[in-house]
Parts: sequence; structure tokens; C-alpha cells
Amino acid sequence: MKAAAFDYHAPPTVESAVALLERFEREGLDAKVLAGGQSLMPMLNMRIARPQVLVDIGRIAALDYIRAEGDAIVIGAMTSKRAAEDSALLKDRQPLFHAATLLIGHRQVRNRGSVGGSFAHADPAAEYPAVAQVLDIQLKAQGPNGVRTIAAGEFFVTFMTTALESTEVLTEVRIPAFRPGTGWAIQEFAKRHGDLAIAGVATTLRKAKGVCDDVRIATFGVNATAVRLPQAEAALNGKAPTAENFARAAALAGESVAEPISDVHASADYRRQLVKVLVGRCLAEAAGRAG
Ligand SMILES: Cc1cc2nc3c(=O)[nH]c(=O)nc-3n(C[C@H](O)[C@H](O)[C@H](O)COP(=O)(O)OP(=O)(O)OC[C@H]3O[C@@H](n4cnc5c(N)ncnc54)[C@H](O)[C@@H]3O)c2cc1C
Repeated sequence: MKAAAFDYHAPPTVESAVALLERFEREGLDAKVLAGGQSLMPMLNMRIARPQVLVDIGRIAALDYIRAEGDAIVIGAMTSKRAAEDSALLKDRQPLFHAATLLIGHRQVRNRGSVGGSFAHADPAAEYPAVAQVLDIQLKAQGPNGVRTIAAGEFFVTFMTTALESTEVLTEVRIPAFRPGTGWAIQEFAKRHGDLAIAGVATTLRKAKGVCDDVRIATFGVNATAVRLPQAEAALNGKAPTAENFARAAALAGESVAEPISDVHASADYRRQLVKVLVGRCLAEAAGRAG
């Protein structure tokens, strides 16, 4: 099947992209931003999405960068996931974000797919939204009223829905400093390498005076959007990093995860069990890395 007919614009700047989106909104036309097209193009071809206009931001060179800003790392929304995968800066300073990148699809998908696209698309099974929840990532958006910054906790609303307005372009992903000594892990279960995860877990924790501290656990592929598991986190905070304590937190993670998705890939119970297993593994791995 081929996409329904649409008008196509490829503005050279974010300002001109926003002006186009604002104009189409005024005219009552359904316009969509096109980035790497790795999710949107299949949706167009399957006619799941039928926008009247595409605003292609792929030629906006100003949105392609990875750089340090003080202790933070900032990534332009149109930066490819391949660039993130190949970035020594990310690998060295944000190892969890880097490891998550390697789990996304195949090299070919990462070659075209943008970093910003994975945030804006907000697939429930995507790795970046869960990583964003544990790393306190901030998203920068530009619209007719200027630039605003949105915390990850407010950005992901529900299934493929974000806080972005239809006239806004996501321009930047800001990853705050990764505190030295923080242990991290990301694990997922997928049917084949490169498939979206049936369930996954991202974790960070620190060790202070022999006990776990600042434990953060987020799941993906389990609910309509990535979620933190505060009860499991609280169960491990202040406790020794032992196999028994990890198992207790993991069991609580499995029990406390709210209404997992049940679909053709896996039942809700199966996903709950995956959360338990993956949280247990991630906590042990993260504790091993915490220094
Ligand atoms: C075979 C295959 C396997 C995959 N496996 C995974 C996986 O394991 N994990 C994973 O996370 N993803 C996976 N993906 C999806 C992939 O990561 C996409 O690249 C990503 O979801 C979207 O990025 P994109 O640049 O291609 O965006 P597009 O497909 O161009 O756009 C996706 C959506 O986001 C919006 N959008 C994109 N950028 C912006 C922006 N800057 N501002 C406002 N709106 C914007 C678009 O309007 C559209 O609604 C896979 C894709 C394929 C084809």
C-alpha cells in the first residue's frame, strides 16, 4: 500500500518550520512533522496516519549536534541515532543513554531515525522515554510563542502522545550530569534482535556508606508510556546491595506495576513476570557498576 496524497515542505530553519505549522493549523489542515521517517513513513504507507501536509525537518542542519554544555550533554533533535551510537562523548559521560541507543532497532534504522523522533513519537516500547525518566532528561520545544523546556515526567502523556503542541517542533534533548559513581543498567526482552521490546527496564542507583541510594527504576513496553516504579525504588533505598534485597525490590516491582498491556505479543501476567525478572537483573548489574 502507498501513502495517501500529501503536500510536502522542507523548511531550512526551525523558525520557518514553526511558521508553516502555525499556518496549516490556522487553515485547518492536518500537518505532521517528518524527521527520520522510521516510524511515520510506515504509518503513512499503511494509512494509519493520513496527514494532509508533511513538514520535513530533515534539512535543518542546526538541529544536528551532540555537545557538552557544562556538565550536561545536549543533543539536537535531528541528530541520528547512529551519531549517538558513535559518540565517544555519550559513551563516556552518559553510558546508559548510549547503551539504550544500541538497543534501538538495527543500524539501518539508527542511521535514519532521529534522537528527537523517538521522544516525539513516544512509542510505549521505546527505550529513550524510560531512560529519560531515570536520568531526568529535559526536552526543548520551539513553537509560535517561543521556546519552552519540558521535564520528561511531564513530556510523555500516554500512548504515542506527548505534551508537544501541534505547532511545536522538538528541538533539543538535554541530559543532566551523570553523577560520578552512579551504577546503571538497561535490559529488555524482545522476540528478535532489533524488534521493539515486549518489556524492558532501565535502572540507576548509587551506593553510599554500604547501602543503596537514589534508586531509580523505569519500565518500557509495559504500560501506555514509560513509568517509574516508586514502591520498588523505596524498598531498596537505604538497604544493603544484597541478592535478597534485590529480589524483594524486584518482586515488589512486578506486583506494583499498574495494569500491564495485554496484546498479541504477550499477556499482562507475562509482562508482570518480565518486569520482576528484568528489575532483579538490572539492580544487580547497576549495583556492580556503582562505585
Ligand atoms: C525495524 C524497526 C525497528 C525499530 N525498533 C525500535 C526499537 O527497538 N526502539 C525504538 O525506540 N524505536 C524503534 N524503531 C522506531 C525508530 O526508533 C524511529 O526512528 C523513531 O521512533 C522515530 O524517529 P524518526 O526520526 O524516524 O521520526 P519519524 O518517523 O519521522 O516521526 C515519528 C513521529 O514523531 C514526530 N516527530 C519526529 N520528530 C519530531 C520533532 N523534532 N518535533 C516534533 N515532532 C516530531 C513525527 O511527526 C511523527 O509523529 C524501529 C523502527 C523500525 C523501522
